[in-house]
Amino acid sequence: LSGDDESLSPKDKDFEKALRPLSFEDFTGQFKIVENLRVFVLAAKNRNEPLDHVLLHGPPGLGKTTLSHIIANELNAGLKITSGPVLDKPSDLAGLLTNLDEGDVLFIDEIHRLNPIVEEYLYSAMEDFRIDIMLDSGPNARSVQISLSPFTLIGATTRSGLLTSPLRARFGINSRLEYYDSKLLTDIVMRSSGILNTPIDEVAAYEIARRSRGTPRIANMLLRRTRDFAEVKGNGTITLEISKIALDALDVDMNGLDEMDNRILLTIIEKFKGGPVGLSTIATACSEEAETIEEVYEPFLIQEGYLKRTARGRMATELAYKHLKIKPAQGMGG
Ligand code: ADP
Repeated sequence: LSGDDESLSPKDKDFEKALRPLSFEDFTGQFKIVENLRVFVLAAKNRNEPLDHVLLHGPPGLGKTTLSHIIANELNAGLKITSGPVLDKPSDLAGLLTNLDEGDVLFIDEIHRLNPIVEEYLYSAMEDFRIDIMLDSGPNARSVQISLSPFTLIGATTRSGLLTSPLRARFGINSRLEYYDSKLLTDIVMRSSGILNTPIDEVAAYEIARRSRGTPRIANMLLRRTRDFAEVKGNGTITLEISKIALDALDVDMNGLDEMDNRILLTIIEKFKGGPVGLSTIATACSEEAETIEEVYEPFLIQEGYLKRTARGRMATELAYKHLKIKPAQGMGG
């Protein structure tokens, strides 16, 4: 069970769609971002102008796609969805852009994975709503300028560090989504069970929430699997007992950490005596990119109190030892 979009089956995607909030009102958490977006959307609507381009960054499954749908809904605008790796050639981008109606929203997921040539074309599209397309090549090469309807680009990325600065500079609005706390995730699980017509006890919703790694996508997936257990092994209601049976059967970590979270903590504790140890050293030892650790894993581990950042490197906390059931050596550990 990962929070990664690419690991979803078509059935998972249908399920996600059914649970997706459609208005700012329905969207739980990320209060500051939502508050600001409401203002920007209203102002753009009142001025009858397209909304400024929006960059949404943050780990997978926290609501970037959902927010884009909501923004388009609230603008009463059309939404076209694509992703960085899909836009292989400038003509792919040109085709999309020339088909946009005035005020439409274009959502580009994984925008850090755009082909650099395609990205260049995007600059003038974002800035001046025009693109220069090269026709032919060699001595016959000539460029034609095509004007576009004013539109709003929403770019989403899990790896904001990989964005080039010219691209980043072209977004007027830049928001970072944070991991959700267990209380907010409980609200999301309760809301989702309502939509699924599955009765659930609030303590059970909390149990699912706190084992969902701060991620609504994971919370919804665990809810779905837990519902199966409630229907087969219980009377249909998700009780605390049923939720525990289901989560244990699914091998969900007691505290919602995933495999890489645990590997990072274990590495720091076992190979580096609990730290402090540098990020790149951890990355090498865990066979993961340093930037992914920094942008996806570490923020959650720090938020939940398993990891500390110090001037000399990362340190495992007492809570990390407790979680992994390892006794700290004398004078070691945070
Ligand atoms: P991302 O694009 O960041 O990977 P998504 O927007 O696809 O994440 O969200 C994954 C799923 O989690 C969605 O189907 C949606 O139902 C749910 N979700 C995300 N954020 C929220 C939220 N704030 N409130 C309720 N559900 C949410």
